[in-house]
Amino acid sequence: MSKPNKKYIFFTGGVASSLGKGLASASIACLLERRGIKVSMLKMDPYINVDPGTMSPTQHGEVFVTDDGAETDLDLGHYERFTSLTLTKASNFTSGQTYLKVIENERDGKYLGKTVQVVPHITDEIKRRIHLAAEGSEVLLGEIGGTVGDIESLPFIEAIRQFAHDVGPSNVLFIHLVLLPYIGAAGEIKSKPAQHSVKELRSIGLFPNIIICRADREVDDSIRQKLSLFCDVPKDQIFTSIDLDSIYQLPMDFHQQGLDEKITELLGMWTAAPSIDDLKKVIYNYQNPTKQVKIGIVGKYTELIESYKSLDEALHHGAIANQVEFVPVYIDAEEMESQKRTESLLKDVNGILVPGGFGERGTEGKINAIKYARENNLPFFGICLGMQLAIIEFARHVCGIKDATSSEFETPGTPVIDFIDGQSKDVAKGGSMRLGAYNCELKPKSLAREVYGEAMISERHRHRLEVNNDFVSQYEKSGLTISGKNPELDLVELIELEDHPFFVACQYHPEFRSRPFSPHPLFASFILASMGELK
Ligand code: GLN
Repeated sequence: MSKPNKKYIFFTGGVASSLGKGLASASIACLLERRGIKVSMLKMDPYINVDPGTMSPTQHGEVFVTDDGAETDLDLGHYERFTSLTLTKASNFTSGQTYLKVIENERDGKYLGKTVQVVPHITDEIKRRIHLAAEGSEVLLGEIGGTVGDIESLPFIEAIRQFAHDVGPSNVLFIHLVLLPYIGAAGEIKSKPAQHSVKELRSIGLFPNIIICRADREVDDSIRQKLSLFCDVPKDQIFTSIDLDSIYQLPMDFHQQGLDEKITELLGMWTAAPSIDDLKKVIYNYQNPTKQVKIGIVGKYTELIESYKSLDEALHHGAIANQVEFVPVYIDAEEMESQKRTESLLKDVNGILVPGGFGERGTEGKINAIKYARENNLPFFGICLGMQLAIIEFARHVCGIKDATSSEFETPGTPVIDFIDGQSKDVAKGGSMRLGAYNCELKPKSLAREVYGEAMISERHRHRLEVNNDFVSQYEKSGLTISGKNPELDLVELIELEDHPFFVACQYHPEFRSRPFSPHPLFASFILASMGELK
């Protein structure tokens, strides 16, 4: 029997950005995987940066990190959370990477004699990368960032148009996600902007097979009828994505509308109905919490929320695992610079989390928060910069190293957090941090060893500085447990305090590995401790 053709689904967006294309494609991948199809996913970003690693998270949201150390778009986080995939460097590329490669080829003489142009050279490089991302899968789901009509997305649209021509149109589906705005004065949802965006798409050669309508309320049949007629898409190929309480309801919502069935039908793939019991369980636990847990998240005000997407999701996963409601309380670190204010801000939370971050601003407030948690038996979870500050706090207030600081900061002092060989303030910025998955050996009998249930784990990193080993024996003598170490580089990965309900901090980012269907053990146990129920 000949091998079935590989299939491709491409997602574009119209009318506005931030419509949740990433969530929509991840939800579809989730359903296809549950139908037994081997999927892979790709995000194509039309901006010129080589990767988002050098962009401020307030501009572009969180930088997601893969096992193999790529700094990527946050949509890859959704892709991993909704599927069983472990994505790689091949799963996200930008215009910057594409141009860089083509210009390098040109300098190497690979196009000798030719004029190097957007078509075919840039488009060929985009198509090469699509093939690369699809390796090993039956269906590739590829999303183009931005909105149709943007100048910079044109080469990508042209490349996927050609791609369908190359592999045969029956192997490709184009899904276009549009916003249907509700106009209060007219008292109705409007379809005109969506029609214009499909017109724009058609004018550059793409004819959508499926339209998904984003709206804040039900879309009635007459609107679908109109869209069907003017966009030339059969009415039963127009689906909706209405605002939901939880993003984890989206796959179920699509499934109930028959979207996954329609996709497999259009691609000519015959599969069994998807098994969705675990989806149901996640939604049940989310909708039926037995109590609330308030977690104070201490960060720089401007970075909170979007910059910590995976963290927010991982806390939700921990709450879902324990069937409780996670209530985030975002606390601006700079407000905690006075002891009194810290006490009043933390009085009502059940636990605090100090996440990763860069730069000195806000760190004294975070150190005050950590001190409060340590002294008042309030569950504390520190991540990356959060762990580095927990070390500084312990060094200053328990070990008497009064000027303990980090070499990242301007304030001089004893560098208990320091650059390791090859790192410094002056290192070239792009892609040069300690990135990706590293091993961590857990100490027998530690809390971490118990909650992970394994002796050797692997977690993802994104940082430049490390715990300075010169002071570690002083911490241990004063009661701090080094519960995880990277054996190859002899670096501190995880710390904890014994006589405390939960005082755990790690140098790595566990949030990148958490999934709703398999919540991360550190998040699940932190939530349990914040409920006062960790035994
Ligand atoms: N700024 C610190 C470092 O580079 C921590 C980074 C982080 O929290 N991701 O080491």
